[in-house]
Amino acid sequence: MEYRTLGKTGLSVSLIGFGASPLGDEFRKTDPAEGARAVHSAIDQGINFFDVSPYYGRTLAEERLGAALNGRRDKVILATKCGRYDKSTFDFSAQRLYRSIDESLARLRTDYVDLLQLHDIEFADYAQIVEEAVPALRVIQRSGKARFIGITGLPLKILHAVASAVDVDSILSYCRYNFLITDLDKDVTPLCRQRNIGLINASPLHMGVLTNHGAPDWHPAPEAVKDAGRRVAETCSRYGVDVSSVALRFCLNHPDVASTLVGMADPAHVLKNIATLDLEVEPALLAEIAAIVAPVKDITWSSGEAVNNDADPTPLAPHPGKA
Ligand code: NAD
Repeated sequence: MEYRTLGKTGLSVSLIGFGASPLGDEFRKTDPAEGARAVHSAIDQGINFFDVSPYYGRTLAEERLGAALNGRRDKVILATKCGRYDKSTFDFSAQRLYRSIDESLARLRTDYVDLLQLHDIEFADYAQIVEEAVPALRVIQRSGKARFIGITGLPLKILHAVASAVDVDSILSYCRYNFLITDLDKDVTPLCRQRNIGLINASPLHMGVLTNHGAPDWHPAPEAVKDAGRRVAETCSRYGVDVSSVALRFCLNHPDVASTLVGMADPAHVLKNIATLDLEVEPALLAEIAAIVAPVKDITWSSGEAVNNDADPTPLAPHPGKA
């Protein structure tokens, strides 16, 4: 396993990180014992970075991860989130965040997390994130309950604006850098490089689109994107390789991403994903994939408040309304 430093935190995270949302049955019903075996196998294979949230399975993923890490907490760098609690339930007020960390610590059976992130900040008012939520996370950090703090979300616009306005230790972006889309590199990657912010890339399989199983029913991508994913999978099969392995390999090649988070609850997936560290992909296959993807490249979808999304040209000023 290769390890990289997460920005200026000094945390040395594994290049492949364990995304724990599948432990909360976000993709399909999973067996908790098998999920625990996946966690243990990942640690045995050198994966030390684990990411979860109270939102995943509405606390189920934190409960299951906490149980699986019992006795092994010191082996991992543990990241969780706060602010998002259900599909449409968000609360980024300082008081809720102070309660949230205590609830997460109880479920995770630990007295601190290494990274506490604001979950899907595009659902909040920009000013509240900058003026209330990020400062609240710094208060939590000073209490010792979180070592470092970060932000997560889909639209690059608000991630970039918040990280430009206030100091954050990490940015977790998802579905913005993989075979189907690479616009993470337009503004966010350069900002992370410039300010030494730890960059975490999540959903290398585009939340299931780049798997033989295909996307879950709730997947928000347009049909044309899912269809391209199916064609990429067929093409990989023709070359005798698995689409998920090839897609993960592509993400691992990114020089600025400290850790790529792939969702796992299945021990077989852990082994398959670890094997991609040594995978070499034929240039001819990469060329075929690029040709399939070209017509849908960089197509995304809207998430959260319209103004926080990339398609809305209204600038997110550091202190809107206060100028
Ligand atoms: P993903 O792209 O990692 O895809 C996960 C899906 O792929 C699951 O169904 C999983 O079972 C399957 N899978 C994994 N390895 C496989 C393999 N080798 N072969 C076949 N199928 C395989 O999507 P994700 O889980 O959404 O993203 C990874 C992690 O990133 C999440 O679990 C979460 O921790 C994090 N994340 C965070 C945010 C956020 O903070 N807003 C958003 C998305 C993801």
